[in-house]
Amino acid sequence: MDDCIFCRIVRRELAASIVAENDRVIAFMDIEPINQGHTLVIPKDHYAALEELPPDIGQEMFKMALQINQALRRSDIKCAGTNLLLSNGSVAGQEVFHLHLHVIPRLVADGSGFRFNSKNRSRPGRKMLDELAKKIVAGL
Ligand code: 5GP
Ligand code: ZN
Repeated sequence: MDDCIFCRIVRRELAASIVAENDRVIAFMDIEPINQGHTLVIPKDHYAALEELPPDIGQEMFKMALQINQALRRSDIKCAGTNLLLSNGSVAGQEVFHLHLHVIPRLVADGSGFRFNSKNRSRPGRKMLDELAKKIVAGL
């Protein structure tokens, strides 16, 4: 992936403020943070979508995100809570198509939110929930 910005960060062709790395994943500061300390954890290999991501790399990403969360909490960076966010697909808000897990420190009344359209929400009833569960079970 020659022109992928995150691949270029992995190859050290673009500058980034790196906080952690191993042979499979790397974490660096988001260039346009939601709040100070906003960090991205990415696989070193290029995977555009969650469906392509090998599960062990997903585990590595989550493990590094946990470590970063702990480090944020130990630091003097303001962090009253955290959002771990992974946007998979443009419909889900993904803008950089090299998969990444956001670690976003949250502050009291920081003006950010995370809201789903409550008009789409309902209580479908057990029968419908069981049917949907069955469909997922069939794919496991
Ligand atoms: P997405 O919307 O795809 O989930 O998030 C992409 C994130 O990548 C954004 O938070 C954006 O600020 C960050 N980003 C985009 N370009 C760069 C870059 O060149 N360097 C770094 N460090 N972060 C970037
Ligand atoms: Zn890439």
